[in-house]
Amino acid sequence: MAQVVAAVDVGGTRVKAALVDAAGHEVESRTVPTVPGASVEGVLVGQVAGLVRDLRDSAGSRHEVGACGVVVPGLVDGSAGVARWSANLGWRDLPVSGPLTELLGLPVALGHDVRAGLVAEVRWGAASGARNVLFLPVGTGIAGALMLDGRVVEADGWAGELGHVVVEPDGPLCGCGAHGCLEAVASAAAVERRYAALSVPVAGGHVGADRIASLVDASDPLAVEVWGVAVEALARAVTLTVTLTGVERVLVGGGLAQSGETLLGPLRAAVASRLTFQRAPAIERAQLGERAGCLGAAALAWDLS
Ligand SMILES: [Zn+2]
Repeated sequence: MAQVVAAVDVGGTRVKAALVDAAGHEVESRTVPTVPGASVEGVLVGQVAGLVRDLRDSAGSRHEVGACGVVVPGLVDGSAGVARWSANLGWRDLPVSGPLTELLGLPVALGHDVRAGLVAEVRWGAASGARNVLFLPVGTGIAGALMLDGRVVEADGWAGELGHVVVEPDGPLCGCGAHGCLEAVASAAAVERRYAALSVPVAGGHVGADRIASLVDASDPLAVEVWGVAVEALARAVTLTVTLTGVERVLVGGGLAQSGETLLGPLRAAVASRLTFQRAPAIERAQLGERAGCLGAAALAWDLS
């Protein structure tokens, strides 16, 4: 019977669960909507336990599940096994590891979705073998996770909030209440908002970041201008991080990175133009995409088993 772990990535709208082998391959998986009332104690844990039991049943006698890893967004205290706070999901101090261990009879690791995603990228993805890495998913929001000297920086769950570093002091209002945060200037949502505000409204309305990226490729002046603002803001934040931490690898993920070189080419140039004495980092696209969280949960579980 092959050994696997159960891995669960809890998001604001979806929960993805999978059985993952030691090479990072998903042998079974399920994706379901996040249960309503997930912030109420016991509700989310019940959903996760149900998914893991279901995966175990389908794997039958072919795979043996040795441990379970769960990742969630927000502030997470992995050592206490408690999800401290999530703006999207609305919980405060939600116990996860303890009750889930009781329900499943397995050792359970709890972690942060983006920090665990970084671990997965280092173990099975684009940062293989690296020891000093910034993982920067740029999607609806912007998150950050740091590995320094081979260790993921946690700071009791407070580390890595690069999306809320101010890059434009008088910039747009951010969801966190401050003005000009990186997330309010350079996330996919911010790029879309800026483009919509400056363009003539067209039939069909909303222009997505992927469409704006193709307009950049076609040298559309407005798209190029809007994209440039995001690239400069990202370059400022990456340069700050490189200077402060000495990361040698920057992995850009999330929706905006799907444009590939349309984002990475100008970003490399903008960072290079800002560096003076610092070690220049390799700036690359993250490899695991939407699987990063789930595989990160698997990496945490494998470390337990
Ligand atoms: Zn903010």
